[in-house]
Order: sequence, then structure tokens, then C-alpha cells
Amino acid sequence: MIRIAIDGPSGAGKSTMAKLLAKDLGIDYIDTGAMYRALALKIFRTGIDCNNAEDLAKLLSTTDVDYEGGSVFLDGENVDGFIRTQEVSEMASVSSAIPAVREKLVALQKAMGQRKSLVMDGRDIGTNVLTDAECKFFLTASAHVRALRRAKEYEEKGLPCNVEEVEKDIETRDYRDSHRETNPLKQADDALLIDSSDMTIEEVVTAMKNVIQKVNK
Ligand code: C5P
Repeated sequence: MIRIAIDGPSGAGKSTMAKLLAKDLGIDYIDTGAMYRALALKIFRTGIDCNNAEDLAKLLSTTDVDYEGGSVFLDGENVDGFIRTQEVSEMASVSSAIPAVREKLVALQKAMGQRKSLVMDGRDIGTNVLTDAECKFFLTASAHVRALRRAKEYEEKGLPCNVEEVEKDIETRDYRDSHRETNPLKQADDALLIDSSDMTIEEVVTAMKNVIQKVNK
């Protein structure tokens, strides 16, 4: 059994690497960000104020979030097509700082990590969700490089975007993730730091595979 934790800020390439590694090793991939996004979508759809503790507790106790076969499910509905909007990104960034939200999703993610080999990516996987993962990476890149990559993705989808605004948005979300009290974004002491600012996807994957091979022997 091998569990691989990949943490890092938005746009560092975590999901690209996680998917490639999972495919290569023939193991599952869990995108924990998609789970926070699905819950944010529910907050949107119901229109509750996520800062109202009572309303939020009610919503959390009646909501089911699952990640299976590369898709995220909200109360049984595949919501892959609804979670990548600007509004959901913003709501996920804000609501993921609320302890009750983290408590619910972290418990689900910990349970997933008990059962099988997997690659899990997020912000607190190595420090909180899978503290005993066999392999931990902290993948980062400069905010400017991450903004350029995001802008390219938008361009490829034919969506308009302004690189400076994308960079500002990335910095705001980085700040929220690394300054929240509960499970902030932080490199685990035993995680390998990879700064991909000047690396290609192939170079990053090769560096990760080299480490995994040693651990997996
Ligand atoms: O990774 P992604 O950008 O899809 O994650 C959406 C949001 O969920 C992030 O902005 C981050 O605040 C939050 N998140 C988190 N902990 C995780 C994964 C994501 O707080 N393990």
C-alpha cells in the first residue's frame, strides 16, 4: 500500500501531477479541493449564510459529499460541471476556513485513506489528513508563474481573463489558505519541496517518480 500526499497553493500543478502519478501507478486519485468546491456549491444553491453556525450545521448534517472514479458527487449528483466557476472558487476558499466544514470533509478524506493506495491532493493532506502517508510532496511555484498557467487554461477554454487579476486572486486565496487557524496550508516537516516555477510537467513527474520508487521498494 502506498499513499501519496501532494499539497501546495492554487495553480501549482498538483492535480495534473496527481492524475499522472495515479494513472502510472494504477491507483486512485482523490481531489480534496473538488470536495470543498462541492460543499461550496451546496451553500450557494441553498443560499444559506455560511457564517450562521446553526444553518451551516444543519446543512452539513444533511449533505453527502463523495469522490469516486475521478468525479465528485454532491448528495449523489455528479457535480463536476458546476464546481469550477469563479463564484464557487471564491465560496470554497472562504468556507474551507470554517472549522465545521473542515471537520466534516477531513473525516471523509481520512476514511478514504484508510482503505487503499491513493494519491490525494489538497492543502493539508501531509500535515493533517494522511499524516502517515508513505510519500509527501509540497508542490509550489511563484504566484506569477501560477497566474500565467491559469490564464493559459482560461485562454484554451476561450474564456476572457486578465493575468494581473488572476495573480491577485491567487495571492488572496494563498493568504486565506495559509493564515486560517484550522489546518492551514503548510509544508509537512517530512514533505519534499518541489518548486516547479522553472520546471516542465515531465521534469516534475520524473522527480516525484524517483522519490516514489525509493519508498515503494
Ligand atoms: O484545490 P482547489 O483550488 O480546487 O480547492 C478549492 C478550495 O478548497 C481552495 O481554495 C482551498 O481553500 C480549499 N481546500 C482546502 N483544503 C484542501 C483542499 C482545498 O482548504 N485539502
